Amino acid sequence: MPTSEEHRFVYEFREGDRTKKDLLGGKGANLAEMTNLGLPVPPGFTVTTAACRAYLAHGDQPPGLKAEIDDHLRRLEEARSKRLGAADDPLLVSVRSGAKFSMPGMMDTVLDVGLTNTSVPGLAAETGSERFAWDSYRRLIQMFGTTVMGVDAREFDRALEDARREAGAETDVDLGVDGLKALVATFKDLVRHRTGREFPQDPAEQLDLAVRAVFDSWNTERARVYRRRERIPQDLGTAVNVMSMVFGNLGPDSGTGVAFTRDPGTGAPGVWGDYLPNAQGEDVVAGIRNPVPLADLEAIDPVSYRDLLRAMETLEGHYRDLCDIEFTIERGKLWMLQTRVGKRTAAAAFHLAVEFLDQGLIDEAEALGRVTGDQLAQLMFPQFAHRSRPEPIASGVPASPGAAVGEAVFDSKAAAERSGPVILVRRETNPEDLPGMIAAAGILTSRGGKTSHAAVVARGMGKTCVVGTEGLKVDTEGRRFTVPGGIEVREGDVISIDGTTGAVYSGAVEVAASPVVEYFEGRLDAADAGGVVAAVARMMELADRHRGMGVHANADTPEDAERARRFGAAGIGLCRTEHMFLGERRRFVEDLILAESRAGRDRALAELLPLQLEDFEGIFAAMDGLPVTIRLIDPPLHEFLPDLTDLSVRVALAEERGRVDEDQARLLEAVRRLDEQNPMLGLRGVRLGLVVPGLVAMQVRAIAEAAAARIRAGGEPHPEVMVPLIGSVHEFELMRSEIERVVAAVSEETGVAVPVKIGTMIELPRAALTAGPIAESAAFFSFGTNDLTQTVWGFSRDDVEGSFFPAYLELGVFEVSPFESLDEEGVGRLVSIAVEEGRAARDDLIVGVCGEHGGDPASVRFFDRIGLDYVSCSPFRVPVARLEAGRAALAGEAADASR
Ligand code: PEP
Ligand code: MG
Repeated sequence: MPTSEEHRFVYEFREGDRTKKDLLGGKGANLAEMTNLGLPVPPGFTVTTAACRAYLAHGDQPPGLKAEIDDHLRRLEEARSKRLGAADDPLLVSVRSGAKFSMPGMMDTVLDVGLTNTSVPGLAAETGSERFAWDSYRRLIQMFGTTVMGVDAREFDRALEDARREAGAETDVDLGVDGLKALVATFKDLVRHRTGREFPQDPAEQLDLAVRAVFDSWNTERARVYRRRERIPQDLGTAVNVMSMVFGNLGPDSGTGVAFTRDPGTGAPGVWGDYLPNAQGEDVVAGIRNPVPLADLEAIDPVSYRDLLRAMETLEGHYRDLCDIEFTIERGKLWMLQTRVGKRTAAAAFHLAVEFLDQGLIDEAEALGRVTGDQLAQLMFPQFAHRSRPEPIASGVPASPGAAVGEAVFDSKAAAERSGPVILVRRETNPEDLPGMIAAAGILTSRGGKTSHAAVVARGMGKTCVVGTEGLKVDTEGRRFTVPGGIEVREGDVISIDGTTGAVYSGAVEVAASPVVEYFEGRLDAADAGGVVAAVARMMELADRHRGMGVHANADTPEDAERARRFGAAGIGLCRTEHMFLGERRRFVEDLILAESRAGRDRALAELLPLQLEDFEGIFAAMDGLPVTIRLIDPPLHEFLPDLTDLSVRVALAEERGRVDEDQARLLEAVRRLDEQNPMLGLRGVRLGLVVPGLVAMQVRAIAEAAAARIRAGGEPHPEVMVPLIGSVHEFELMRSEIERVVAAVSEETGVAVPVKIGTMIELPRAALTAGPIAESAAFFSFGTNDLTQTVWGFSRDDVEGSFFPAYLELGVFEVSPFESLDEEGVGRLVSIAVEEGRAARDDLIVGVCGEHGGDPASVRFFDRIGLDYVSCSPFRVPVARLEAGRAALAGEAADASR
């Protein structure tokens, strides 16, 4: 026997407790807790997750495990005064999986282990029911045959059906002893034929094989897929719980059921659950017979009912949370088979956190630990009403949650023309589509991933968006799209898209609005609204009071800035100025690029200046008193020019007709000159500022003049100018001198001292690795984690999510896209280095993040851990980030445990 605690693989229930989920799995830890609470748990022991990990790593049980199991089995036999599979009065055990995180139905369980040809009569004699003994035996062969020996479950089902038909029995319960005996023989034959082996008659061998099968079930395909979806690490392994059997199928005074201590849909108190008389747990799952409401148990077995309610009260009081329970009644005696903190809807989570807090059962840290940013996000999006959901016609990457219904349109013009709600359908979007996106209720694309243009912009606007939709063929000219299966949708046809699941529906699906958003918008008073709105308001107040990290917003219009402020942003962390050069204004950018003389360039810049100025004044007004970080122009210039192919065709046609248009020809030349193979790694960011004369000066002038105007009008602007995509401190310093020169000139001209902070984005590995010297020159850093992820991994953010990411997720290269949730090991490490070295060089350096990760709950927790001053995200994510920042500050471990 191993002596040290470290090398123990088996724990009796009474030895564990609920804090040992890592080792004993959720089920094992909670069984231990119930045992120690004095609740009636059938005795047993738990084989640890460490044993499973060792087994999976080496393909065999680790040394010592068998001896430990044998030893604990002996003790169990002593406690019950029975021997496993003995000929008279045999001990039978259940062998159940139980990982750290609940994975309902994903792994295996074997019941009635210990039954053999010789112990069946013993069980019959002891229980006084031959029928019961034979029924238990056929259940064991069926479960064991499938899970341990790999026989197709459907073969057993077919044999059972045949037996029922032959006996004229309506349900299993109507099968008599002879019928069951014959069925057992058939099942054994089936095992022999399909596996070439006999059904094992040695109880110890049954137990050994069942434990191995449960270990193996950790790695079944469905379990792996489930874990990927739920972001559960693939290397945790499962524990195995061996428990003496109790029987719910011993007659009408026995039964089995599930119970919740409250309504998991709303959090309201009450008796919730189902009860199935004369049945085992798997009958409930199999849905063979319909259970009765739990409240009916009061009439069926008042004593057990009273005991159950008392146990539920004990559990809820002890866990100080909603619990769910599985129980069995064996001949009028209640047994508790499982409990755990129950899964609940987002609305119930908020209700319960507030209720338990108000009752003084939990403190503020724990209350915050019980709600998540993801749950808040779910409550903020309109959703399709569940009952009216038809079959989807296609499915894509869910890029921005919510539910949108509208007529399909295929370009911005059509979007503007239609009076009702529209869904903009494109192969992919570019800045040209912005007006259409603004007009649309939702955006659907056939290409792109979660950080494609469509996705980023849609999230920024809080619009529902589905991208990378497989099989969707968009025919923009023909104004229609088709999906596999031959369905065609034409312009004007109504479709519905679900940005939470990626589903695309034909026709209008019913939508329900979010009262939580109405509250954040200030259109609904929390106290008046009550319910989930009041609960959310309460938790937001808590989070804001405790969080250390600020939350800013990514916004580039006064309207977005105002919304961000309503939603609780303490400033703008990223104002993407390129959005201000679109639409009508694109003409001036074109003139700027084409200008052949300084005078021509100045003319174009002079046209842009007042427009930019107006934008900035509006934003400063909306964010009066708060910092507004304005990023200088970033994307490649050619994004503001016409498409190369379209223009080439136009010019060629004109030439053919002998009508050469000089301007168009020059434009084509410029477009060719600026065309790049890898535009995201080309002439963009700070590089533009350094090579296009006058552009940055114009932008800075607009910022400084707008600030001066606001100050003169009694406002309090806090402009911050941010340089994008630098790789070296030299680039930054050149820009800084230019910015300082213009700000000084404006201050001089206006007579108003304009306070402008100058900082930089850190979005290239080189910038992160030379953060020290950069910080000596820059007042602040803002991590552009979209570009940083792209450049650290060498993944094109516009392409990869639609191409090989599904395969990478499948292969387990990562559990979630690094564009969605920060890759802490790689990108996160660079961020940490830059924070550390930046702060070492300048102790008042302000550090924030403005990539998409600023609104992702897991990433927000990471940023809090490494001490960022703020995160910045789209206005709609601001409440989510506030909540997560509060959770990160307060809840710590409790937040993780609530998963
Ligand atoms: C980033 O790269 O993270 C960022 C915020 O900039 P953009 O997404 O505009 O490139
Ligand atoms: Mg960037």
